[in-house]
Amino acid sequence: MSIQVLPEHVVAQIAAGEVVERPASVVKELIENALDAGARTIHVEVSGGGRRRIRISDDGVGIPPDEILLAFQRHATSKLRTTADLEHIATLGFRGEALASIASVSQLTMTSRHSDYQAGTLLHLNGGTLERQQAVGAPVGTVTTVENLFFNTPARLKFLKKENTEKRQISLIITRYAMAYPQVRFVLEQDDREVFRSNGSGQLADVIVHSLGIESFRNMVEVESDETDRAPWTYIHGYTSVPSLHRADRHQITLFVNGRWIQDTRLSYAVTQAYHTFLMNGRYPVAVLMLRLPPQDVDVNVHPTKAEVRFRDTDSIFGAIQRGVRRAVVDLASTPSMRGARFGQILPYPLHSYETRNTQMDMGLPLETPGQYRRQSLYDQNASTNDPTEIPAGPDAPARPRTLPILRAVGQVGAMYVVAEGPSGLYLIDQHAAHERVLFEQFMANFARQEPIKQYTLTAQSIHLPPTEARLLDEYAESLARLGFEIEPFGPNTYVIRSVPAVLGDASPGDVIADILADLSAERQPGQAAIEHKIITRVCKGAAIKAGQILSLNEMQDLIRQLERCESPHTCPHGRPTMLHLTNEQLAKEFGRLGA
Ligand code: ADP
Ligand code: MG
Repeated sequence: MSIQVLPEHVVAQIAAGEVVERPASVVKELIENALDAGARTIHVEVSGGGRRRIRISDDGVGIPPDEILLAFQRHATSKLRTTADLEHIATLGFRGEALASIASVSQLTMTSRHSDYQAGTLLHLNGGTLERQQAVGAPVGTVTTVENLFFNTPARLKFLKKENTEKRQISLIITRYAMAYPQVRFVLEQDDREVFRSNGSGQLADVIVHSLGIESFRNMVEVESDETDRAPWTYIHGYTSVPSLHRADRHQITLFVNGRWIQDTRLSYAVTQAYHTFLMNGRYPVAVLMLRLPPQDVDVNVHPTKAEVRFRDTDSIFGAIQRGVRRAVVDLASTPSMRGARFGQILPYPLHSYETRNTQMDMGLPLETPGQYRRQSLYDQNASTNDPTEIPAGPDAPARPRTLPILRAVGQVGAMYVVAEGPSGLYLIDQHAAHERVLFEQFMANFARQEPIKQYTLTAQSIHLPPTEARLLDEYAESLARLGFEIEPFGPNTYVIRSVPAVLGDASPGDVIADILADLSAERQPGQAAIEHKIITRVCKGAAIKAGQILSLNEMQDLIRQLERCESPHTCPHGRPTMLHLTNEQLAKEFGRLGA
């Protein structure tokens, strides 16, 4: 092929790939435009996960008739004039690329009326080519409709994620902007169903209640950097979870810099760091933090999607976040009873039928709460009349071959490990890991024998989920049902739990469901079996005896008896060891009795 300059529409499509990766990126760009136009209400309607149609209506200032076509030219912007302006960008957009890019890969209709004009303009473009422009009557503001996204770029179409993944991504984007702009009212409708609404009250707290749910918010404390802090140019405000509310991944740490949502591993780490010794390893807080910095201290022009930013002084920002969050969490630790009272007053409605969470610090070893016996027998998850002092002979115990020698419980160390002795020495058993193993095998056995694995809840419990998690729940409803969770929709993002896996016992189903959803949101798309494995291990983890729980000798013995008949007693379902074994020989050697 000879060298030729590419035709304009091909250049446009190539460039579009950078800005418009997926339907969610269209939503993001159009929302940013609406916000830059000073909108107070932004209405987003999406159908077919954004592939069929995305419509965003705003009541911003609008575009004058003589400029509207220009808005669709690449590098046409009203937000930037000189390179000097790049130093202090106060708007979300500035590259002048979004509309041109989106238009080149879709069928786009825009109606806009500028506040200085009596009439609006309607524009229709097909794959970037103008097909219609006419004056129309319209309220002040802009309505942009993007249809059949990627219709002319089949390669891109082929690589799009599942519709549900897109829906979830779009909800996430809307909730983030709603948090960053609490004074703006956002409404999101997916396939004609309202899934999110913020009220534009200007209070971040209100948006958090609407997006993360009242239950999560009840377990969050306010973070505010004070003037005495050593990073005077960084102002931090937001909310972070009390140590008893935590998640399996760091996706629930949401950070904004000057009203822009950012992804920054180091700063997320600063938040997690602040919980040092308060949270177990591998658990992460839930946080929403707004950072305000002088614009010249951040460079947002790193990447077209603008989710990555560069800071002039990351270290001082890291420190400011860590100190601010730490202070909030430590203050809380010293005055736990204050919190409930404070939040109790501003909460608009009690959505939950759950017990309020245990506000005790989850430090791995809450030794100050002795006597927290597990009410339920370890042996039979369904029996209600079990006497914990009786050594039960389990129903299926004889049927299963022994995989460990007979062990005798001796005692407990640190409310975490059971000490046992056997014919060949001493065993230290991790009570949590061991019980996870026992429950896991019990569950799998019942499941394989098609025995009832679910247990109906006596009082219907309701859960309210953030929209993104609600979509995830919809997506995996079938797998969850197969495994014993009968969960029915009950109003927007609210569900009623009808049944739970019996193995769950009296563990809080809401917490377990939240953890399952966190596991499932880790973006990979595993097969059915992997999904179900994730769900089951999470259920067993939630139901297992915790580290820190003091056990009676009988309970320890129960646990050991069940472990003795597990197929793989040596590891928990995650593959970590359940026990340490010190053989008689090792003991003899250590005590210099060898050959004695
Ligand atoms: P950028 O936002 O980077 O300037 P865009 O391609 O997104 O580039 O938009 C081009 C221009 O169109 C903007 O600078 C703005 O003047 C105008 N515009 C786009 N959307 C809107 C809207 N919803 N309301 C008012 N003006 C808009
Ligand atoms: Mg823009």
